[in-house]
Amino acid sequence: MKTVLWLQGGACGGNTLSFLNAESPDVVEFFSMYNVKLLWHPSLSLESGEKVKELLKDIVSGKINLDIFIFEGTVVLGPNGSGRFNMFAGRPMKDWVREIANVSNYVVAVGDCASFGGIPASDPNPTESTGLQFHKKEKGGFLGKNFKTRKGLPVINISGCPAHPEWITTTLSLILNDKLTEDDLDEYQRLKIIYGTTTQFGCPRNLYFAYKVALKEFGHREGCLYFELGCRGSYTKSPCNVILWNNQSSKTRVGTPCFGCTEFDFPTFNFFSTEKNRSGIPKKLPLGVSRGAYTTLSAIARGSAPNFLVKPLYNKKDEKVDWLD
Ligand code: SF4
Ligand code: SF4
Repeated sequence: MKTVLWLQGGACGGNTLSFLNAESPDVVEFFSMYNVKLLWHPSLSLESGEKVKELLKDIVSGKINLDIFIFEGTVVLGPNGSGRFNMFAGRPMKDWVREIANVSNYVVAVGDCASFGGIPASDPNPTESTGLQFHKKEKGGFLGKNFKTRKGLPVINISGCPAHPEWITTTLSLILNDKLTEDDLDEYQRLKIIYGTTTQFGCPRNLYFAYKVALKEFGHREGCLYFELGCRGSYTKSPCNVILWNNQSSKTRVGTPCFGCTEFDFPTFNFFSTEKNRSGIPKKLPLGVSRGAYTTLSAIARGSAPNFLVKPLYNKKDEKVDWLD
């Protein structure tokens, strides 16, 4: 049997809700498949008050062995480093986090806030929030860059706002099978098999991207959201167009730009527009493409776009139009 404890810091609870949407297996099946004993979860457990305090003390003292410590939300350090903005079980949550992390076999940061600080840690960061082992791009965060668990691993990040339920169950299943090693993690300590590709991989608008055909209004089926509507899919690491949301769709599939919610710099506050330089080329380029190559390619691509991509198949009311006439 493996033990799991889930705590929330500066969080909206979105990752818990996402995890509860897991379908195959669902959360109850998942825990029974892997013989997991959930010691406590703020939304799922009945115990409160003194009982929770006793449990946490028993974990810290070693009386109860903890295999996986899952943390959702930021570690709140304010005001003035005291952590008193986020009290839990009689003391600042940050103090529980440090002591529990030190006695856990694995520590998992679920969501962008726990991974990188997310929305609460954005400027001006009034709660002095930070991620478990990163503060935005910088390694360190609350636990420090050299932190390792009893199993010798750093914090395992499952970034996203929220993280997709399958990213959570996949990461946890590897941990529960004792199969996850440091080599499986990318530079931001996320599972490479999940975060090894960009959101663009599998996006049905890829052909429009290749020929630089822009979508100018939200929601339409044709055109790419990169050129005018701020889509970050070509430089955001996530499998959102491969592991679909609700098993059926993604933002870019329904005509909404990717906001880059799995990245350390989320949120960026220019969600719906594309910043461009004086030549009209987007400032932020797709991963791995040089500016010179992109500029040359753009001109050629735009000039050779096939008619069926440039001429709309659907009108503004999203009714099919017969453009062959
Ligand atoms: S930029 Fe966005 S909309 Fe365009 S192909 Fe990439 S992910 Fe899809
Ligand atoms: S499409 Fe982009 S913003 Fe939406 S969930 Fe995926 S990574 Fe996050």
